[in-house]
Amino acid sequence: MNAITLPKPPRVGLVSLGCPKNLVDSERIMTKLRSEGYDMSPDYAGADVVLVNTCGFLDSAKEESLEAIGEAIAENGRVVVTGCFGKEAEVIRARFPQVLAITGAHQYEQVVEAVHEAAPPMPSPFLDLIPEAGLKLTPRHYSYLKISEGCNHRCAFCIIPQLRGDLVSRRPDAILREAEKLVEAGTKELLVISQDTSAYGVDIRNHARMWHGREVRPHMTDLVRELGQIAPWVRLHYVYPYPHVDQVIPLMAEGQVLPYLDIPFQHASPKVLRAMRRPANDAKVLGRIRNWRELCPDIAIRSTFVVGFPGETAEDFDYLLEWLAEAQLDRVGAFKFEPVEGASANALPDPVPEELKQERFERIMALSSRISTEKLAAKVGSTIEVLIDAVDPETGGATGRSQADAPEIDGEVHLRDADRLNVGDFAQVIVEESDEHDLYGVPA
Ligand code: SF4
Repeated sequence: MNAITLPKPPRVGLVSLGCPKNLVDSERIMTKLRSEGYDMSPDYAGADVVLVNTCGFLDSAKEESLEAIGEAIAENGRVVVTGCFGKEAEVIRARFPQVLAITGAHQYEQVVEAVHEAAPPMPSPFLDLIPEAGLKLTPRHYSYLKISEGCNHRCAFCIIPQLRGDLVSRRPDAILREAEKLVEAGTKELLVISQDTSAYGVDIRNHARMWHGREVRPHMTDLVRELGQIAPWVRLHYVYPYPHVDQVIPLMAEGQVLPYLDIPFQHASPKVLRAMRRPANDAKVLGRIRNWRELCPDIAIRSTFVVGFPGETAEDFDYLLEWLAEAQLDRVGAFKFEPVEGASANALPDPVPEELKQERFERIMALSSRISTEKLAAKVGSTIEVLIDAVDPETGGATGRSQADAPEIDGEVHLRDADRLNVGDFAQVIVEESDEHDLYGVPA
C-alpha cells in the first residue's frame, strides 16, 4: 500500500505584544492561518515568516514594538507587522525598510494575505483541520472573549478611537456561540473584554437575536446573563459605571457571574475627570459602590488610575486619595501620565513635573497596598473557591486564583499539599495566610 506523503506546511512564528485585546487578535489570525494548513513555529529559526503583532498605545509600547520587529528581522529576516502600531507604517519603514508588509489593527484579511505572499499556503484536507474553538494562546482553562471593537468616547489621553475607530459590537448570538465552543473545548473562565463593556450593543440596539429559543438583546445585562449559563466563571473587564451596571450586581449576588468588576476610574477629582473627558463621570459613584457591596458583599472591584495628568493639583490628588480610602477598592493599578502622540491631552497646560508624578504614584500605590493587605488579611480562616492555574509535582504545591483575581493582573492563591489537583480544576481552599497581594492556603 502506498503511503501518502504530506507536504511540509509553511510555518509562522508569532510575537504578540500589548494588551489582552491584541492577544485575542493574534488568536484569530493564527486560527485562520492554522485552518489554512499553516503550522506555528516556536522559534525564529524554524519560521518561514514571523508575524509581529504590535501595540502602539504609549510611546514606550511603540519602542518595545520596534525592538521586537528589529529582533525578528535580525533572527529571521522575513517579517510581517500588524496591530495598533501598524497605523504608523512610515515610522516602521524608516527604521526597517526590509519589513515585508505592514497592516493595522483588526485587518485580519490583509495580515493573512501578507502571510500568503510571504509563505504561500498548501491547502490539504489533511492539514486543514483545527479544533472547533480555534487555536488559543491562553491556557485552555481560561479565555478572553471580545464582545466589541473600538470606542465611542474621546478620552483626552487616549488614541484608541483613532486607532480602532468607533464602537462596533459583535452579534450576541455570535458571541454566545464562541463562548459555548470555548467551554466545550475546556474553558472554565471567560474574561469578557472590549474597550467599554457597558456600552456593548448601543450601535446595534434593535438587533435582538434568537439563542437557544430565547431572544437575546445586544445589551450588557442580557449578554452577561446568558454567558453565566454557559461558563462556570464569567469575569467582566473594562466596565464603566453607567446606571445599567446596577442591574448586573444581582446576577453577581446570585452567582451567575463572578462578583468582580474591573472599572477603569482613572481619577476621582471631578475637575480632572472633566479634563480627561471620561465617560460616566458620576459624582455619586461612591454611594453606588456602597449599594453594590450591600447587595453583593463579596464583590471585588479593580481599577486603574492615572496620576500627574496635566493640571492635577495637590488638592485634586488629595481628593483622589481620600476617595480611594473611602471606596476601599480591592485591586488598584496606577500609571504616571505619559503623553501619547496624537492625544488631545498633550495640548493641555500645567504639566506635572516628573518628580511630582513619581511621588504621587508612590503615595497612591502605598495606600492601595494598605487597603489590599487589610482586605486579604480579613479572608484568613475562610474557605474560598480557587481555579488552579499551575501545579508543581516536585513540591506538591499549586497556584490558582480566587474569584477576586483576574489572570496576570491581580493576585494569586498559593496552595500546599495540593498534589491531587490538576490545572483547570476548581478547589475549595482554606485560607491560612495573606500578604499584600496574595493568599496562601490548603485544599479543604
Ligand atoms: S473609554 Fe476612553 S480610554 Fe477607553 S478606549 Fe475609549 S477613549 Fe480610550
